[in-house]
Amino acid sequence: MADGPHVTIWNEYRHEKSDENVAEIYPQGIHGTLDAMLKEAGFEVRTATLDEPEHGLPEEVLDTTDVLLWWGHVAHDEVSEETVDKVHERVLGGMGLIVLHSGHFSRIFKRLMGTTCDLKWRLDDTERLWVVAPGHPIAEGLGEYIELGEEMYGEPFDVPQPDELVFVSHFGGGEVFRSGLCYRRGRGRVFYFRPGHEENPSYHNPDVQLVIRNAVRWAAPTPGAAPVYGHYEPID
Ligand code: ZN
Repeated sequence: MADGPHVTIWNEYRHEKSDENVAEIYPQGIHGTLDAMLKEAGFEVRTATLDEPEHGLPEEVLDTTDVLLWWGHVAHDEVSEETVDKVHERVLGGMGLIVLHSGHFSRIFKRLMGTTCDLKWRLDDTERLWVVAPGHPIAEGLGEYIELGEEMYGEPFDVPQPDELVFVSHFGGGEVFRSGLCYRRGRGRVFYFRPGHEENPSYHNPDVQLVIRNAVRWAAPTPGAAPVYGHYEPID
């Protein structure tokens, strides 16, 4: 096994099967494009999709996942409570989670945020993602900004204030959006990254790929100290 973090890419994998334009952009599915890109970078990678048994995330997969990527859109409600519970528990225990684009409405992201995670949107716009934290490891290797043809997401984005804000997007229509958000939940690190509408080829963009590779490294668990909880006798 590789030394780096073990990655599992979870994709709803519905648009690619029902929309030929999306299938043309992502012939192997969004997860297939991300899988190839992360493998090329030397990561140990698996993929999992909604329609597999246990959504492709049985215990043995989650137990050996350091960082989980999550892309979903039209079928958030089909993800079982049991899976949401298991992923939630793993994040609190230290597993990294990278939530992509329309995953803002996924059950797991809403559970972790505790808010509606709502936003405004519009198709077919131009996006400039400004790096607002140039020293952050997730921005390593980027220029000042990334430019994409994308769906617009606009503020207000109903999420808690992030621990760190890495990207702010500006759209052709004038809206702005917090596009790269870092959180800690329990021992786990959570990164929300905005681009990746299924009708746009953003996951083929080298800068977007670089951000995702950097985010995998950032979100990977680190050993830390063992926590002790519960009733406790005085030490002295
Ligand atoms: Zn979208």
